[in-house]
Amino acid sequence: MIKQLALYFAILSGVFLNAQVKSNDSISPLVNDGPYVFIEQDRLVEKRVVNGELKQKDLKLNSYQTTFNAEVSIYSDVEQIVALSDIHGQFDLAIEILKNNKVIDENLNWMFGNGHFVIVGDVFDRGPKVTETLWFIYYLEKQAKASGGKVHFLLGNHEYMVLHSDLRYIHKKYQKTEKVLQTRYDQLFSNTTVLGKWLRSKATLVKINDNVFVHGGVSSDFLIEEFNIEATNKLMRASIDREKTEMKSSSFYERYYGSNGPIWYRGYFNDDLTNEEVNTILNQINANHIVVGHCSQKEVLQLYDQKIFAVDSSIKNGTYGEVLFIDAELYSRGTMKGEKMKFN
Ligand code: ZN
Repeated sequence: MIKQLALYFAILSGVFLNAQVKSNDSISPLVNDGPYVFIEQDRLVEKRVVNGELKQKDLKLNSYQTTFNAEVSIYSDVEQIVALSDIHGQFDLAIEILKNNKVIDENLNWMFGNGHFVIVGDVFDRGPKVTETLWFIYYLEKQAKASGGKVHFLLGNHEYMVLHSDLRYIHKKYQKTEKVLQTRYDQLFSNTTVLGKWLRSKATLVKINDNVFVHGGVSSDFLIEEFNIEATNKLMRASIDREKTEMKSSSFYERYYGSNGPIWYRGYFNDDLTNEEVNTILNQINANHIVVGHCSQKEVLQLYDQKIFAVDSSIKNGTYGEVLFIDAELYSRGTMKGEKMKFN
């Protein structure tokens, strides 16, 4: 498996050296992207874009994992947690932050031991290195597991948007990929692809110790019905392959995909909730802290007396970002340089 990772990144680094994408705005015709792995009855078809051209090969069915178990929603007795959010295709910056904070080593290998690393959604859209980020997470997951640790990739609104064919925010580069592969972007993540099946196994919320992690947040509106994290994840997972128009015809859409739902909620930042209201939410979900992404900040923030943590540190801008560390009951932020700072 380590060998597999080294090989994968050897291929990737060749791609990076060519530096096809000069900036977010100018896009060379010599795009490199992939692999995208399509599952057929008797084989896998691996497609890449290499210097703007399609490279395709058939592989044996067992060349990649093609079934994934649904993620578990609740974990306890985890000694160390690190969280980051809203990578939005800024692979290089995310790697730098993770290296400097010793989550991964120089060769991008897991070095967080039995700790848990939570990505609080929005890997997709905006930036040019979404595919690289996805495969990096995919392989890091396996390494973490082998060390007794765990990577959690929670789905944010941008994952759900892409999977429901809302492609307004994809980087221009991926329009080239669509052309070369003659496949619409969301279909590169369909239920008959390796990454698509992997994404469909992911959770929207996870509870680790007394912390709930979720991209947008848990609102009091969402809690009008009893909160069940496992059931919520199951419903969200199943919703990926439901038609949007069909979902919109039921109350499901407003509750789960609406502005007060778990992937879109911004209320901890906008609603001026009282401490009491936040306490009520925490009581209802049986947690002491909620960690969210989605609302961009300059750095990792604590709100409501460390009951809420905001971990979208604007990595999407490509210049700076941070992580949140949770060591037992001690919360601190890890700066881009890797300094651990207590919250004031
Ligand atoms: Zn978001």
